[in-house]
Amino acid sequence: MRVCELFTSIQGESTFAGLPCTFVRLSGCNLRCAYCDTRYSYEEGAEMQIADVLHRVDSAGVRLVEITGGEPLLQGEETISLIGKLLEKSYEVLVETNGSMNIQEIDKRATVILDMKTPDSGMSHKMDFSNLEKIKNSDEVKFVLCSRNDYEWTKKLVARYRLEERCEVLLSPAFGLLHPGELASWILDDRLRVRLNIQIHKYIFHPGERMV
Ligand code: SF4
Repeated sequence: MRVCELFTSIQGESTFAGLPCTFVRLSGCNLRCAYCDTRYSYEEGAEMQIADVLHRVDSAGVRLVEITGGEPLLQGEETISLIGKLLEKSYEVLVETNGSMNIQEIDKRATVILDMKTPDSGMSHKMDFSNLEKIKNSDEVKFVLCSRNDYEWTKKLVARYRLEERCEVLLSPAFGLLHPGELASWILDDRLRVRLNIQIHKYIFHPGERMV
C-alpha cells in the first residue's frame, strides 16, 4: 500500500482529541478541498507492506491508531485489510474518510470519522449522502465550516438525518476562516446537540507543520 507518512502525535480532533495517537496517512485523494492542509498527501509517499505498517505502529507503542489520508478508502482492500489486522491486535482504530466513498466495508469495530464536505470546500457535490444512513452510534460525523452558509447547510443535514440522536456530530471552524466564538454562538442560539470541535493540533504545533 502507498503510505504518505506515519507518525505519533496528539489527536487534534473528534471526541478522542487530546489523546496520543499514531497516524497512518495513506497517499492519494480524489477531492481537492479549497482549504486542504495536506496537499502533499496527493502524491507523496512510499510503498509499504501491511506487515511493515503494523510493525511501525507496534513500535510506536500507542493503542489509539487513526487511518487517514488523503482518502484512505481509495486503497480499497488493502485499507480494509489493514484496519482488520489492527483490530485483531486490539488497537482502537479510527478511520477518517472524506465522505465521498462508501463506508459499508469498514469493519464495524472501528470508529468512522466521516468528514462531510460543506459547500465552501467546493466538494459538497461529491459527497455520498447514503453514508449518513449507514453510520453507527459510535461513529462521528464531522463538518468543517468556513461560513454561515456552511453552517446553514450543515444544520439542514443534521436535521434531515437525525444525526444528533444517532451519532456524535462535530462542528469544526475552518482554521483562520471562521472564528470559533462565532460558531459557538450559532450553536448556542440554535441549541444544537453538537460538539464544537477545535483543531487543537493547530494550536499546539505551528499550522501546517508536519510531524514525521
Ligand atoms: S479530502 Fe482531505 S486530503 Fe483530500 S483534498 Fe479534502 S482536505 Fe485535502
